[in-house]
Amino acid sequence: MNGRISVDEARTLWNEASDDELKELAQGVRRRYHEPKHATYMVMRIINYTNVCVAQCDYCAFYVLPNQEGGYVLSRDDVFAKIDELLDAGGDLVGFNGGFNPRLPLDYYCDLFAAVRERYGDRVEFYALTIAEFLYLADHAKLSHAEAATRLRDAGVHWITGGGSEILTEDFRKRHAKFKYTVREYFEAQRAIVDSGLKTTATMVIGFDETLDERLEHLQRTRDFQDGCVRDGFGGLFSFLCWTYKPYGTALAGVEIAPEEYWRHIALSRIFLDNVKHIRTSVLTQNAEAFRALDYGADDFDLPIEDEVTQKAGATIELDLEGLLAVPRALGYTVEYRRAERPAALTAS
Ligand code: SF4
Repeated sequence: MNGRISVDEARTLWNEASDDELKELAQGVRRRYHEPKHATYMVMRIINYTNVCVAQCDYCAFYVLPNQEGGYVLSRDDVFAKIDELLDAGGDLVGFNGGFNPRLPLDYYCDLFAAVRERYGDRVEFYALTIAEFLYLADHAKLSHAEAATRLRDAGVHWITGGGSEILTEDFRKRHAKFKYTVREYFEAQRAIVDSGLKTTATMVIGFDETLDERLEHLQRTRDFQDGCVRDGFGGLFSFLCWTYKPYGTALAGVEIAPEEYWRHIALSRIFLDNVKHIRTSVLTQNAEAFRALDYGADDFDLPIEDEVTQKAGATIELDLEGLLAVPRALGYTVEYRRAERPAALTAS
């Protein structure tokens, strides 16, 4: 297989290809970008700065509504303490992720991110927000996407990642997250982020009630977005990370998908997203099973030390990082620590 596959061909592969056939095709695309049997990883911590949220996604076990008991907003010192623990654990990447809290203005975020940048300099990098939070903030502050991106960039932000995407079809959004954003808004915001010089990524979550066609539409939209970025001279998506829905304690509930289905989906993503360099596998939701996805075309992964959002929905985090790294090594992979990229142009400004 040399050329790009269509949605119809992807559907056929999913329905008819054996695991070995999928692995072989995915490894073919992986080899265009990466050494065989070599993988990279980061040690990171998600800092959930607030659990107050008005979006009310039915697959979420994390949020509380404003004025409901149990809501919190982390102080700056709380955030610093969590970053210090991450540094002690050998990590250097923070992902900020929280709810749509109507009491937090854009200045809260700009002040927090500027303080983190000032205190830690180049010692940590951070994924400032997901696109979902970015959309809410921009709307709340009555700013265009370009204006909001510029404000955040001037506060020291380098990355606004593609998190909060789950499944990018309008129908899925209406079924499960109707107050969050539309797919059109999502990609318009992501393009404004790219245009403003910030870096971004793509994500996907599978295992809700989405159909195969919805998964394929998500992949098609992601590939189209990246084609547009490349055509216009931007790097676009640094990576594509897929994880699996954790159903415990959520209104939607449900049953977790089997690791085998996840691995096959990673392979299909690697084959389909031929214009994205890194395909990342999720230790956060698949634990040691995540490493088998390296055989299915993934090349990179996080070792997370905290993410309250997924932990509330049933994820368990293993803190024996050397024990975890022994698993890909036993599968024949060399693993190398990857520092989160610090964009040179932004760092210099
Ligand atoms: S997934 Fe995020 S946006 Fe949706 S309810 Fe939970 S915290 Fe809010």
